[in-house]
Amino acid sequence: MLFFLSAASAGWSAGAWPEIRGEHFVVSYAPEHQDFAENTARKAEDYYNSIADDLGYARYSNFWKWENRVKIFIFPDHAAYIRASGQAEWSNGMANYTRKEISSFAGSEDFLNTILPHEIAHLVFRDFVGFKGEVPLWLDEGVAQWEEKNNRDQRVVLFRKFVRDKVLLSLQDMMRLDVRTLRDNATIRMRGVTLGGEETTVLFVSDNKLVELYYVQAFSLVMFLTERYGTDSFINFCRKLRNGDSIEKALQGAYPTQIRSLVDLEKLWLEYVRGL
Ligand SMILES: [Zn+2]
Repeated sequence: MLFFLSAASAGWSAGAWPEIRGEHFVVSYAPEHQDFAENTARKAEDYYNSIADDLGYARYSNFWKWENRVKIFIFPDHAAYIRASGQAEWSNGMANYTRKEISSFAGSEDFLNTILPHEIAHLVFRDFVGFKGEVPLWLDEGVAQWEEKNNRDQRVVLFRKFVRDKVLLSLQDMMRLDVRTLRDNATIRMRGVTLGGEETTVLFVSDNKLVELYYVQAFSLVMFLTERYGTDSFINFCRKLRNGDSIEKALQGAYPTQIRSLVDLEKLWLEYVRGL
């Protein structure tokens, strides 16, 4: 999950905790969780290298080194993490773009395999595309989930289930929906798309379902772009966004013979989805 700037990390002092200082990361941890912190530090460097390769991130940059290293805070448990971060109860980790911080807690079963690569991917991606371009949230979340490599198969299975049930959001809704603002127990009316092509349906989905659908669809869009057209074109697409192109212009530039508009993207993605 992705969260923007909050006062979350202002409340504790890193000086009070022991630190492990690696090449790109500094892990601060509750003292009783040294083993977990060492694992975190090692894995974080591995993920960084793998994600940087996937995104064509310029390695010559020293942006992540020395005093610019990303800080990772490991709280002793979930309750302490929620208390300090002020995040929603379901949150298991967060990244702060501008402060270059990742926070989570020791003993989180999937922290090392899931949350850590997800949050590092957000940071690398944002570093790469910057802030001036028109970068949709689905692309950001799609990339972050794509980099949870252990979960790819499981996500494809989940996505197939939505496809089978013919519950999909239109790309237009994907563009305008901000899942971070959804409230509990809300039922939200969305424009759906049918796999048959011609007819538009209206979906009524609970917010939990909507968040799940939004995320897995974001994943499938990135999977579609990278698997169908290759990593080089995808990196090119991201580079055009970084240079300030609108999303349609970036698509046209990176996929000149295939994707001329968001309508094309939706159409081609739906064709791909039908074949999954
Ligand atoms: Zn995320």
